[in-house]
Amino acid sequence: MKKFLALMLVVLMVVSLAGCAADAQNQTEAPVADAKYSAGTYTGVGKGNNGDITVEVTLTDSEISEIVIKEHKETAGLADAPLRDIPAAIIAGQTLAVDTVAGATFASNGVIAAVTAALESAGVDVSTLQIKDESASAQVAIEDAEYDVVVIGAGGAGLSAAIKAVNSGAEKVVVVEKMPFAGGNTLLSYAELACANNWLQEEKGIEDSPEQFAKEMWEGGGMLARKEMVDMVANNALDAALWLRDYVGVEYQDYLVHEGGHSVARAVEPIELGAGMITPLVKKAEELGVEIKYNTKAEEFVQNAEGRVTGVLVSAGESTAVLTAKSGVVLASGGFGANIEMREQYNKRWPTVGESVQTTNSPAIVGDGIIMAENIGAQLEGMEHIQLYPFNNPMTGVFYGIEAPSWSGEGLIYVNIDGNRFVNEMGMRDVRAEAILAQEGPVYAIYNQEVADRLNLEAKFADEYEKCLEGGVYYKADTLEEIAEYFDINADNLVQTMADYNKYMEAGVDEAFGRTTAMVPMQQGPWFILKGVVSVHHTMGGVMIDTEAHVIDTEGNVMPGLYAAGEVTGSVHGNNRVGTCAISDITVFGRIAGENAATGK
Ligand code: ADP
Repeated sequence: MKKFLALMLVVLMVVSLAGCAADAQNQTEAPVADAKYSAGTYTGVGKGNNGDITVEVTLTDSEISEIVIKEHKETAGLADAPLRDIPAAIIAGQTLAVDTVAGATFASNGVIAAVTAALESAGVDVSTLQIKDESASAQVAIEDAEYDVVVIGAGGAGLSAAIKAVNSGAEKVVVVEKMPFAGGNTLLSYAELACANNWLQEEKGIEDSPEQFAKEMWEGGGMLARKEMVDMVANNALDAALWLRDYVGVEYQDYLVHEGGHSVARAVEPIELGAGMITPLVKKAEELGVEIKYNTKAEEFVQNAEGRVTGVLVSAGESTAVLTAKSGVVLASGGFGANIEMREQYNKRWPTVGESVQTTNSPAIVGDGIIMAENIGAQLEGMEHIQLYPFNNPMTGVFYGIEAPSWSGEGLIYVNIDGNRFVNEMGMRDVRAEAILAQEGPVYAIYNQEVADRLNLEAKFADEYEKCLEGGVYYKADTLEEIAEYFDINADNLVQTMADYNKYMEAGVDEAFGRTTAMVPMQQGPWFILKGVVSVHHTMGGVMIDTEAHVIDTEGNVMPGLYAAGEVTGSVHGNNRVGTCAISDITVFGRIAGENAATGK
C-alpha cells in the first residue's frame, strides 16, 4: 500500500561556509563599528509541512555564515532537499530570495521563514535580503554523454533497475530524475511489500504460498491482469524483499501488514516506511557508482534508423542533451495520478476523477513516460483503471497515518452521516471507494482507545492527531454521543450500529457486511473519529510489458532497447491494485528491467 506521512526523522543538518569558525557559535560578539550584522547565533522558527522548523543562524559582522537545522518534523527523504539546499542557497547568495524546491514548497518556505525570523531577532532589516537577483538562479548546462544503461525516474522501480544493471555488468549507469530528490510515489508510500512465505510469516506460523498470493492478487484485479505477469510478481516477491533487506539494507518492522484482498497477513513494512526503502536504495546505487542526475527531465526517446531505442533526450532548465544508452533504456517514471486531464481522458469507472478529487501522488507523477512511450508506438494497456484510495484526510487528500487500524488487523468501522455502517471496512479498495461515493454526505472512521493503544497510535502520530483536530477532521471523546454530536451524525443510530457491530464480532460472523478479518469488538470509549474522502491513488494502466520487462509495441512486438517497470506499466494489476502489491511489483520488475537492459536480453 502506498500511504503518506512517512516516519518523521529528526535530522540535524549543518551547512556552513568553508572557513567558518566553529567557536563563533553560541555567543554574541561585541558590535563592530560599521558592521552590517550584530555577530552572534540567533534562533528562528518557521512552519513547515508537518510542524515547526527551528534553525540557528550564525552571523559574522558582514555575512550569514552558518545555518543549522536544529529541529523539524518534515518527512524524511521528501524534505532532505529543502533542508539541505535552502540553507546552502541562502548562504551562497547571502539572500532570502532563494528558489523553493519543487515538490517540497512547504518545507522550503518553512526553512526560509525560520531563517527570516532568526535574522529579524538579530535586528536585521530582512526586506533588503528579499529582493531577487535573477542572475543568481541560472542553471548549469547539461551535456550529451554515453552510458551503458539510462534509467528514467529515481523511484523504487528505477533505483532497483539501476542497481541491478550494475550488478549485471553495466559499467556506466545513469538515472535521470526530474525532481530535486529521489523517491516519487514510493517515497510517499509506506513501502509495504507483499510476499508469501516471508520470515515474519514463518515466525508467526502463517501458512501461505506464492500460488495463493498470485490468485488473490489476480482476483483482486478483476482477473483482468495478464496472469503470467501476476505470477512473476508473486513468485519473485520474496526474493525481492530479501534483496532489499540483505543487500540494499532496508530495515523491516517485526510485524506484518494485512490489507484488504489478502486472506492472510503477508506484507513486510520498512521501519522508516517509504524513506526507509528509498534512502538505502539511493545509497546503494551511489556506492555502486550510479550517477543520479536530479532536476533532469526525460523528454523523448532517441531511436536509430532500425527503430531501436538508443537514448533519451533530456532537459535541465534551459538546456537539453542526449544521453545515449549503449545497452538499454529503462522507463520507470511512474503513473499519471497527478495528471487531472489524463485521469479524465481515460476514466470510465468513477463518476469523476476531475479537479474535485484530490490525489495521494507526488506532483511529478503526470504520465510523462506513458506519453513518451506512446509517441514511439508502445502499446498502452488498462489505462481506464484508476484506483481511488478510499479514506483520506480531506485537508490534504492524502491517507491518514491515524487510520492505521484499517490495515493492521484491528477494529475500525466506517459510518455515514446517518450513523450506519455501509461496507466491509476490510474489503478491497475499489469496493470501499465505490461504497463511500454512494453515501450522501461525508463518511467517518471510528475506533476506540483499546485499538489505539494496541497500535501505540497516540505516541506514533501525536502531531497528526493535533493537526487533524485543529483542522476539524478528527475528534476524540468519551462517548459515542459526543463524537456523533461533533460531526452532526445521528447519535441513536451510531450507538445501535456499534452494538450490532460488537454482536457480530463476538459471534465471529458479520451479518451486515460479511467482514471476515480484523474481527475485533470495540466495547467502550474513549472514541476516535476521522472524516474521510476518496483520492486518486494508483493508476493501474500504462505501457505494456512482457515478463522480461520488454516494452511491447502496438503490433505486439518487443521494442528493442526499451524496458519498463513500475507504475508506468499497465500489465500487472488489472482493474484494482490490491494493497501492498505495488512495492512487490516495482521491485520485482525493476530488477528484471535493470538486468535485461544491462545484458541486452
Ligand atoms: P515507481 O513506483 O514505479 O518506482 P515512483 O512514482 O516511485 O514510481 O517514481 C517515479 C519517479 O520518476 C519519480 O521520482 C518522478 O519524479 C520521476 N519522473 C517522472 N517523470 C519523469 C521524467 N519525465 N523525467 C525524469 N524523471 C521523471
